[in-house]
Amino acid sequence: MFIIKQSKDLAGYLQKQRSAKKTIGFVPTMGALHEGHLSLIKKAGEECSIVVCSIFVNPTQFNDPKDFELYPQTLENDIYLLEKEACDVLFLPSVEEIYPSGITQTQVYELGYLESVLEGKYRPGHFQGVCKVVHRLVEIVRPNQLYIGQKDYQQCLVIKKLLTLIHSPAKIVICPTLRESNGLAMSSRNMRLSADEKQKAGGIFEALSYINKHVKAGPVKEIIEKAGNLLIQQELAADYVVIAREQDLQVIDVWDGQTKVIALIAAFMGNVRLIDNMILPLNFANYGN
Ligand code: AMP
Repeated sequence: MFIIKQSKDLAGYLQKQRSAKKTIGFVPTMGALHEGHLSLIKKAGEECSIVVCSIFVNPTQFNDPKDFELYPQTLENDIYLLEKEACDVLFLPSVEEIYPSGITQTQVYELGYLESVLEGKYRPGHFQGVCKVVHRLVEIVRPNQLYIGQKDYQQCLVIKKLLTLIHSPAKIVICPTLRESNGLAMSSRNMRLSADEKQKAGGIFEALSYINKHVKAGPVKEIIEKAGNLLIQQELAADYVVIAREQDLQVIDVWDGQTKVIALIAAFMGNVRLIDNMILPLNFANYGN
C-alpha cells in the first residue's frame, strides 16, 4: 500500500491509473478504523481496480471542540488493517493540504431541509464541514465510486446532494451497517465507552428493532415513546427518536403503510454521542446476510 500525504502526488498517481483504464473506488474516513470501515474497503476492492482510503480528522465538521479533541487516533493499527484488507493507497493529508486557504473558508453549500433536521439541527455547521472536506477530497481523488456507510444515513443524503451541486460524476455506494454482537453499530467513538456502557448502548439497536417490529400504518407517537423508554432503561439520553421518509428525512407523525420510512436515533451514553438507524420494516430473516 502506498501512503501519500500530498494531494498533488495522489492526483498525479491516480491520473496515471485512469489513463491505464483503471477504475477508482474511494473510502473517506476519519481513522480509528473498525470492521465497518473495512467492509467499505472490501466492497470497493470487489468493484474497482484501485482502492483509495483517506484518513483525515476533519476539524470543520466538529461542532463540539471536546469531541474533536477526544476523537480516537490509532494510525499504526489503521495502516496494519488497511494493508491486510488490500487497500492500494492511503491518503493521509495535513489540515493545510485539505484547507490551503485556512479552515474558515466561506463557501456555503445549499443543503436546504436536510441541514435543518436531526443531525443538522443538533450539530449546527456539521454538514457544511462534511461538504467542505468531501468536496475537496473528491476533487483530488476523482473517484468512479464513493463508498459510504448507511450508519450515517443523513450524511449519505448530504453527500448525494453535494455530488449534484458540484457536478461530480462519482457514483455513491451505500454500504450496510456493521454491528457488535449486541447490535451496537460499530463506531470509532465506541472506543470511548467502557464495557458496561457498550453493553447498555446496545439499547439503541433494541429501540430501533422495537420500532421495526411494531410499526404499522397510523400514528407513530406511541411506538416512538415506547422506543424512547427502552433507551431510558439503558441510561441512554436521546437527542431524537424519529421515523422519517427514507428519501428526504421528512419526519412523519402518521405512517401510510406504503411510503418507505427509516427510524433514526441519536443518543448519549455518558458523554459519547451515538447515532444509528434502521430502514423499516427490515426483514430479520434476511438480517446480516
Ligand atoms: P468515519 O470514520 O466515522 O467518518 O466513517 C467513515 C465511513 O465509514 C463513513 O462512510 C461511515 O458511514 C462508515 N461507517 C462508520 N461506521 C460504520 C459501520 N458500523 N458500518 C459500516 N460503515 C460504517
